[in-house]
Amino acid sequence: MSSSSRKTIIAGNWKMYKTRAQARDLAKAIADGVKGQKGLPEIVLCPPFTSLHDVIAACAGTPVQVGAQNMEYREEGAYTGEISPLMLTDVGAKWVVIGHSERRQYYNESNASVNAKLKAALKHKLLPIVCVGESLDERDANLTDSVVRRQVGAALADLTAAEVGPLVVAYEPVWAIGTGKSCESKEANRVAALIRATISDHFHAQGDTDKVGDHVPVLYGGSVKPSTAEEQLTEPDIDGALVGGASLKAEDFLPIIAAGCKRVSLSGSRK
Ligand code: PEP
Repeated sequence: MSSSSRKTIIAGNWKMYKTRAQARDLAKAIADGVKGQKGLPEIVLCPPFTSLHDVIAACAGTPVQVGAQNMEYREEGAYTGEISPLMLTDVGAKWVVIGHSERRQYYNESNASVNAKLKAALKHKLLPIVCVGESLDERDANLTDSVVRRQVGAALADLTAAEVGPLVVAYEPVWAIGTGKSCESKEANRVAALIRATISDHFHAQGDTDKVGDHVPVLYGGSVKPSTAEEQLTEPDIDGALVGGASLKAEDFLPIIAAGCKRVSLSGSRK
């Protein structure tokens, strides 16, 4: 399958920013900015949990979709401070980011917890964006490929090719997140292709002869800006962007969506 049959996705991770009123204003500004446009990529906003309801209401009837930045994998129970997949679907979230490097770094998330969360997301029909990527030390030690392969393989453990149909992966080199230093586009494309090949190999080893990875959108994330997005999104194996800092202002995020529109028009991938 060529890139033309995969979705283009522009997702914004608002991290721990925005009060409810600020989140509503930003969501409205983004929805207004794309109003009436044809050939849009999938647009996904991931506000903090406290603003999910407001952002979902602000985006109702627009092409803008909403997701969460994280979730607990269990459905309910004595897990103080956690939010379950049932709660996300109940509030109307469609997407969930899983295994963001800030979760791995500050909240001890492991490849095993990413796998549990991916299974829970798929079970509850939440569209998962699984984040993988190497640290600076790992890149300097030439471990990028092995780290990324291990993260992808572990995320997919005990899942079938049919089950992972809705999967999206984001390649987010940790050293590029929030640093202003983007991964060079050709290198990001190389790792995106490696992720896709890893997915295909994983399921091939289970007897699936289809190249499963060819169907999986792979996004790039790490200091994506309006000035870098277009070049990044013309790479054949990069199907979109997961954007942190530059998703916090409509005037920065809208040009990145416009770069996604260009990719859609080049590939005809909007379905
Ligand atoms: C992110 O939060 O996933 C991210 C890539 O952040 P930034 O764009 O700020 O580097």
